[in-house]
Amino acid sequence: MSTQNIPETFGSCVFDDKVMRARLSVDVYNSLRKTIDENAKLDVAMTEAIAKEMKEWAIENGATHFTHWFQPLTGVTAEKHDSFITPSPDGGVIMEFSGKELIKGEPDASSFPSGGLRATFEARGYTAWDPTSYAFIKDHTLCIPTAFCSYSGDALDKKTPLLRSMQALNRQAKRILKLFGKDAKYVRTSVGPEQEYFLIDREVFEKRPDLVYTGRTLFGAMPPKGQELDDHYFGVIKPRVTAYMEDLNNELWKLGILAKTEHNEVAPAQHEMAPIFSTTNVATDNNQLTMEIMQKVARKHGMVCLLHEKPFKGVNGSGKHNNWSMATDTGVNLLSPGETPSENAQFLLFLCAVVQAVDDYQDLLRLSVATAGNDHRLGANEAPPAIISVFLGDELSAILDSIKNDKPYQDKEKEVMKLGVHSLPRFSKDTTDRNRTSPFAFTGNKFEFRSLGSSNSIACCNIMLNAAVAESLKQYADRLEKAKNFEDELHELIKETITAHERILFNGNGYSPEWVEEATKGRGLLNLKTTADAMPYLLHDKNKKMLMEHKVFTETELNSRCEIMLENYCKSVNIEGLTMVDMVRKNYLPAIDEYVYTLASSVAKVKLVSPKVKCRYEKTTMERLSVLEDEILEKVDSLEEALVSIKVYESIISTSEAIRDKVLPAMEDLRASVDEAEMLVGEKQWPFPSYGKLLFSVY
Ligand code: ADP
Ligand code: MG
Repeated sequence: MSTQNIPETFGSCVFDDKVMRARLSVDVYNSLRKTIDENAKLDVAMTEAIAKEMKEWAIENGATHFTHWFQPLTGVTAEKHDSFITPSPDGGVIMEFSGKELIKGEPDASSFPSGGLRATFEARGYTAWDPTSYAFIKDHTLCIPTAFCSYSGDALDKKTPLLRSMQALNRQAKRILKLFGKDAKYVRTSVGPEQEYFLIDREVFEKRPDLVYTGRTLFGAMPPKGQELDDHYFGVIKPRVTAYMEDLNNELWKLGILAKTEHNEVAPAQHEMAPIFSTTNVATDNNQLTMEIMQKVARKHGMVCLLHEKPFKGVNGSGKHNNWSMATDTGVNLLSPGETPSENAQFLLFLCAVVQAVDDYQDLLRLSVATAGNDHRLGANEAPPAIISVFLGDELSAILDSIKNDKPYQDKEKEVMKLGVHSLPRFSKDTTDRNRTSPFAFTGNKFEFRSLGSSNSIACCNIMLNAAVAESLKQYADRLEKAKNFEDELHELIKETITAHERILFNGNGYSPEWVEEATKGRGLLNLKTTADAMPYLLHDKNKKMLMEHKVFTETELNSRCEIMLENYCKSVNIEGLTMVDMVRKNYLPAIDEYVYTLASSVAKVKLVSPKVKCRYEKTTMERLSVLEDEILEKVDSLEEALVSIKVYESIISTSEAIRDKVLPAMEDLRASVDEAEMLVGEKQWPFPSYGKLLFSVY
């Protein structure tokens, strides 16, 4: 595709505003727009007209099928295709799609994870059209973004609670804006997710069962060259990768996804793509699609796109940065520092709301990114630590400090700052983004949550973030609405908030061991290292209460979600363990044994010809390998035992603890011996491609 065509092809596969405006009658269009923008109830009579136009448009663009596209708790998207054909009286077929088919579908819910809900409720579920995210065409299929619920109305997906959390934040933020004399139609959160990934050659990939079954390498000694030269980050992109990125961009643009930035990342074979931000709900759908298209396009180019958080030990893993902000319907960013004293005060109040939310619900933010894969990154000196803290930068911190202590700001100003009366001292945006070790950083006009794993759905963290910020805002609105003097009360409120939540603010190095010490012992912050540690916090009273009060989750939904997330954790690690056992018994041990035999035969033969020869290489290698062989056998037996033993635990919590305490350490231990053996066995005799081959397979 030539570059001239981009504006023309952009969004060509999307039933977007342009298409709707062109195809729908004014009445239908206006009514749908009101639903999209203001969450107004859609007139059922309108859906027939919309369905008809959607179908016509889809058929004109090559679609033969339609599907309700949804995000069950498996973490990937689901779709069940139906063709448009309906038998006609003359024995032929016509292409049909009704309003009813647009707004509701009935996939069998019994094969999707439902946690406790499965036992209590019917297996049937239904999908419901989400008009706020545009329908699109993919693989000759009209995809209709939908929410997925059980028949009793419990959410079985990630979209439903995300939409509810956006509503909660909208409600509370509007109350606050009203206090500042502003009548916003709505407040929405926006997200720009930066996505990291690895590309490796498909042929090499297919030779590694660990990558095929689990998405990450479970064995592998370090290659002579890793990422120590720092020559990959922002480096020249290799031709094969350039071709891939071009193709990827084209596919994403056709789907209306605003792919913007692309570059090489720190590790060899690692890259990043960032889109321009959009409404959280749309950004979430788009990120799910992006991950899918990334993998599909890679296959076309003879490569595999790895989205696992930690495909290679000793090499940086992949994450996702969730850039987040709140804006009104007129596009005013509520996290942009303002020009006037009143705007400043409003900015500081929204800023405080986020700071308080992150402090009060650090556990929810941590668990929203918890998976077996991401546990390998957090706290491993390449990603943010598992401890959640907020970075505001020196200047903004100094401003908050002066408010808190009734002191002039940095001695530059003469007067003590009074909110609503004085302007904020200007602070430069570029100084705000320097600290890369912080999990939650203010970057000038948005917050960047950096703890997400590359394969995480961004829905999860945004549900928690939206809900937690809605809760801070609610508390503020309750108090300020009753205030006799709004400005005095506001000043007091901000002062109190800074004092109460200071402990979550940290501008220093999040990778240092001193921080772990200070954060946990000095400040009482949580350090939830694994999914097994983090997930049970979902059911703590304060969290349940907040999430239920804002109608983001019901109690049943929370119970089921906790169970499903822990189940996913246990299942992933279990598969990894079984894969290791399989690879060791079928390939590694036989290979080592054969090599020992080769070396021994060589010694015997050489000695026969020339008894004086020492055969030191053969003998020392053979002896060390024989020791390792025994060790590996012992360790693979222990791992297998650990895997068998986890089946006996009664609750998912105790199973997940056993996975953490027994299985994962046994896997680490086994790997160490196999990786040592890899350094001793000849390359030709080693059964799987090395790290060097994997990491430098694309050129
Ligand atoms: P970086 O220096 O991290 O690349 P950028 O300013 O380029 O920072 O933005 C990174 C991401 O943040 C992009 O996806 C961008 O669209 C997104 N972003 C920018 N402004 C906002 C906002 N107001 N809300 C949400 N995301 C935003
Ligand atoms: Mg960034």
